[in-house]
Amino acid sequence: MARTDAIVLGAGIVGTSIALHLAKHGLAVALVDRRGPGEETSYGNAGIIEGSTLLPHAFPRGLSALLRIALKRATEADYHVGFLPRIAPWLMAYRSQSAPARRMAFADAMRPLFARALPEHEALIAEAGAGRYLRKTGWLKVYRGDASFADTVPERELAMRLGLPHQVLDLDGARELEPALAPTFRHGIFWSEAASITNPLALTKAYAARFTALSGLVLKGDARSLHRNGAQWRIETPEGPIDAAVAVLALGPWTPDVLGAFGLRVPLAVKRGYHRHFRSRGNSGLTRPVVDADIGYCVAPMEQGLRLTTGAEFAARDAPPTPAQLDRLLPAARALFPLGEPVEAVPWMGSRPCFADSRPVIGPAPGQPGLWLAFGHAHWGLTLGPATGRLVAELIAGADPFCDPRPYRADRF
Ligand SMILES: Cc1cc2nc3c(=O)[nH]c(=O)nc-3n(C[C@H](O)[C@H](O)[C@H](O)COP(=O)(O)OP(=O)(O)OC[C@H]3O[C@@H](n4cnc5c(N)ncnc54)[C@H](O)[C@@H]3O)c2cc1C
Repeated sequence: MARTDAIVLGAGIVGTSIALHLAKHGLAVALVDRRGPGEETSYGNAGIIEGSTLLPHAFPRGLSALLRIALKRATEADYHVGFLPRIAPWLMAYRSQSAPARRMAFADAMRPLFARALPEHEALIAEAGAGRYLRKTGWLKVYRGDASFADTVPERELAMRLGLPHQVLDLDGARELEPALAPTFRHGIFWSEAASITNPLALTKAYAARFTALSGLVLKGDARSLHRNGAQWRIETPEGPIDAAVAVLALGPWTPDVLGAFGLRVPLAVKRGYHRHFRSRGNSGLTRPVVDADIGYCVAPMEQGLRLTTGAEFAARDAPPTPAQLDRLLPAARALFPLGEPVEAVPWMGSRPCFADSRPVIGPAPGQPGLWLAFGHAHWGLTLGPATGRLVAELIAGADPFCDPRPYRADRF
């Protein structure tokens, strides 16, 4: 096999974007996955490019919210009882990261990446000829209660300070944007600069095709075969072993499976989530993703139908799916929007890879020269894939990084 400069392990939106950016820097790159590009978590998301995100998702506040979750009556979150002892320390850390000052620290640390989210997608979309998947119609969040809407004040104030466009709407204003929504809510916020993707799987595949056109190699292989071979990193593939000075781990929720072999432990948890497509009824449709904030789900128009995505389920990554949350929220979703029949027999499940501080890890692996990390993008992997790809490629190629990478280093834990 010809010379390889870098092996990227994991062909989700993050790894594929890294491989493509490395190829654009002139490196010979092999992108290795046990499946095809974009077929895991990067397939099933709500498709929102959330460049307007400012604050992380907060740990639930108030006794009644916690009680609803504890009693398994909540639509926004669920859990496996037997998993609680294992996830408890992470949940405590997540709770402490939900303090107002820490949420603001997240906003500072993450703004440079979020600010580049859409422009970096647009650049890759133009190169990849994937413009048909991009919808620049913003996203709409609706609030059924006054209290949840009042909770958005800090975010809106920050958005105003930073000049991030958004519009506060009443019921009529929101229904002017999306006439198919029933009057089940009182307030709306329209984030006009957000964009969405009508087929996230096809988008990652289009980026992978662009990578191949730049002479990149897409190969099947198991990332757990990564090992040192002298000064090089070696991965086994059906085409034979590949050696390179640089290896990048972009395995999303599976990254710890490989890190452990090099003595690296990271406090990564997963927030599992489900989706199911529904047909719309009659002529009703949506022109942008809509989040029903109080119930905790999103309905996003996709090529496959209306994709209903759930909030977080805390359970072991590989435990069998338990889509109870989806069943619980369906009546509320049907009240908001005239959903028709489901498209698939069973819901899809994926795992958002999350650190308690909601920031990803992007940068060198501590104590492992030539090994780089890019994972833990939580709720924003689709959003941040191309910006991460650019940053990682700039760091590896020794170019000036477009932003300060220090807030994302692995050694912050
Ligand atoms: C319900 C839901 C809704 C979401 N909505 C949004 C949204 O609207 N906007 C947004 O920005 N984000 C959203 N996300 C989050 C986003 O989908 C993820 O953050 C993102 O897909 C993570 O991308 P990744 O490339 O890191 O991981 P993945 O896409 O999971 O890629 C990891 C790859 O590693 C491969 N792999 C794993 N183990 C091995 C191995 N041993 N050997 C070889 N290959 C291996 C897998 O096959 C996979 O292709 C959502 C997530 C969920 C679950």
